[in-house]
Amino acid sequence: MSPSPDPTAPVSLVTGATRGIGREVSRQLAGLGHTVLLTGRSPEAVEWAAEETAGQTGGEVRPLRLDVTDDDSVAAAVAEVAHRYRRLDVLVNNAGIHYDTWQRAVTADLAVVREAAETNLYGPWRMAIAFAPLLRASAHARLVNVSSESGSLATMGGGTPAYSASKAGLNALTRMLSDELRGDGVLVNAVCPGWVATDMGGPGGRPVAEGAASVVYAATLPDDGPTGGFFRDGRPLPW
Ligand code: NAP
Repeated sequence: MSPSPDPTAPVSLVTGATRGIGREVSRQLAGLGHTVLLTGRSPEAVEWAAEETAGQTGGEVRPLRLDVTDDDSVAAAVAEVAHRYRRLDVLVNNAGIHYDTWQRAVTADLAVVREAAETNLYGPWRMAIAFAPLLRASAHARLVNVSSESGSLATMGGGTPAYSASKAGLNALTRMLSDELRGDGVLVNAVCPGWVATDMGGPGGRPVAEGAASVVYAATLPDDGPTGGFFRDGRPLPW
């Protein structure tokens, strides 16, 4: 019989964790002793990824079906976390789509722009609204929005319009949430993982472990850590 999980272990939920950066963030958090809710939209993929990640780390990794664009799916996940743990310590909004290198803003297909926003901006926003009560119930809550330097207005040029606009919106959301949740002790930050060799990033990017570590930094901040910031590898990026 396996030992029962440590009830004092931080409870972390990672979206889009069936592959890429989200999956590696789950592995690293489990390695640090967190109870990890490894979530994704395919039930089979979350089962398989959670089983493999638990095997790699010896940690408590639970599969949970969650599509960030679907109100019912998010509500069901909230109910499950509330029933099982009564709090959420770390929310990592990682799920992302449509790095549209094939588009320009001046000729963009707005259907693609809307789709990107649905997952990359409204998805994290929906998650933040739904999980805010459980984050407030934690004594050390952290909310991490996995963004991109593509969303930085300070350095923005043309190209990748759907992706860049959705990440700029996500950065704005980060600032608003950090301010509104500061009084509850929830540290809210945006992170760029850098160019990472995943399905989205393609070959040539840095190893997934390095990109994920950039995210784990913001997920494991001390209580006196920053909030309302934008970081890569723990160093501030211009908004
Ligand atoms: P990836 O390999 O394409 O993985 C994306 C993950 O998001 C997959 O698990 C995918 O699940 C999931 N997902 C997509 N739509 C979803 C939805 N509606 N609900 C739940 N999960 C959903 O991408 P990645 O490179 O790991 O990127 C992770 C995050 O890092 C993204 O936010 C991305 O914008 C950001 N980022 C990446 C890079 C890079 O170079 N890779 C650079 C900067 C920022 P399915 O398997 O079901 O599709």
